[in-house]
Amino acid sequence: MSQPHCLPGSTGWSDNGQPATLGVMGGGQLGRMFVHAAQSMGYFTVVLDPDTSSPAGLVSHQHIQRDYLDTQGLAKLVQHCAAVTTEFENVPAAALATLAATRPTAPNAEAVAIAQDRIQEKAHLARSGVPVAPYAVIENAADLATVADSLLPGILKTARLGYDGKGQLRVSNRAELASAWDALKHVPCVLEQMLPLADECSVIVARGWDGACVHFAPQRNLHRQGILAVTQAYEGNLPPALVDKAVTATKKIADELNYVGVLCVEFFVLAEGSPESAALGGLVVNEMAPRPHNSGHYTLDACDQSQFDLQVRTLAGLPLVQPRHHSAAVMLNLLGDLWVNGCIPPWDTVLALPGVHLHLYGKLQAKPGRKMGHLTVTAATAAEANAVALEAARLLGIEAF
Ligand code: ATP
Ligand code: MG
Repeated sequence: MSQPHCLPGSTGWSDNGQPATLGVMGGGQLGRMFVHAAQSMGYFTVVLDPDTSSPAGLVSHQHIQRDYLDTQGLAKLVQHCAAVTTEFENVPAAALATLAATRPTAPNAEAVAIAQDRIQEKAHLARSGVPVAPYAVIENAADLATVADSLLPGILKTARLGYDGKGQLRVSNRAELASAWDALKHVPCVLEQMLPLADECSVIVARGWDGACVHFAPQRNLHRQGILAVTQAYEGNLPPALVDKAVTATKKIADELNYVGVLCVEFFVLAEGSPESAALGGLVVNEMAPRPHNSGHYTLDACDQSQFDLQVRTLAGLPLVQPRHHSAAVMLNLLGDLWVNGCIPPWDTVLALPGVHLHLYGKLQAKPGRKMGHLTVTAATAAEANAVALEAARLLGIEAF
């Protein structure tokens, strides 16, 4: 499907009298922030998500409460939308392929299918010539028996449907590997060598239908229990030599996929002086997300274009301009753990701090580990942003970083 012509109208209506409407598959917080960005440019929005109270469904003009593969739901989406995107990488690629038959759909089903499957993803990354953690594919008992000793200790990860550290088990020897594969019910997996990490970072790019590509500078990410906890985004957050390398690798991956939309690539920065770092060149790709990413939420408050603005622009075929990062930023994820025993976090004291931007996703139920919102601190300097974010973390009972 070729580039859409989907200009926003000042009233939200296009020249032919039809609403200029953009659709999104998935109703989570990423969809909600896409909807906000689209609506602020005058678009109408439609969300397809089976959940009756999905964060994006609650704020969209329309919410089609159907399953992702439901024929009638997809037909209705097509009927209303000029173009469709996705916010959830586990949307079945077949649904995107159906949409793409009649509407510009970005990212495309092939790119999403690759990102949905660690086995395909690693093969694609190897084709793009970017280093990944040494790994083996485990699909049967013979694969398990022939795993190289050098991959242990390692992490066994299910090929599909993992997120926030779910579907992963750390193993230090062959006996643990065998029982981990039993625990994961013998689904296809990859075993990755456990690497000595100095840091983690990610790069977000937006690539248009014509191949033009803009990017945000790499952000530094801290994970806890496999879930993103803190993102630091300011100049000097990472060794300068890695910054260009990470951006170049991300653009290469996007080009190889002929990607349209917002793409995030997560990297491991390896401990300097380690044999792994010497062998792999200091930086390896962990994985990619075919959508805006949690580590890019700071762009809402610290950049002149957010990752969601760029998602709207790519989808609608509007010009892409290199975003300007104007404030040092630190983002803290707000997990359901903060709402323990029905308590409401002390927003009044947190919001009294300078440069605090609170984003809550409208989720009706708090659960441990569930992403309920995030908070971004912006400041003139990195030192100030970190100091205020540390104070906000202390007030909220989030571990210092
Ligand atoms: P997300 O939802 O954040 O993408 P995920 O479930 O896909 O998470 P991964 O990104 O594969 O999980 O891993 C989660 C975290 O576990 C990583 O961010 C990193 O901290 C750690 N980790 C994963 N693989 C390795 C590895 N090979 N060596 C060292 N640490 C690792
Ligand atoms: Mg990850």
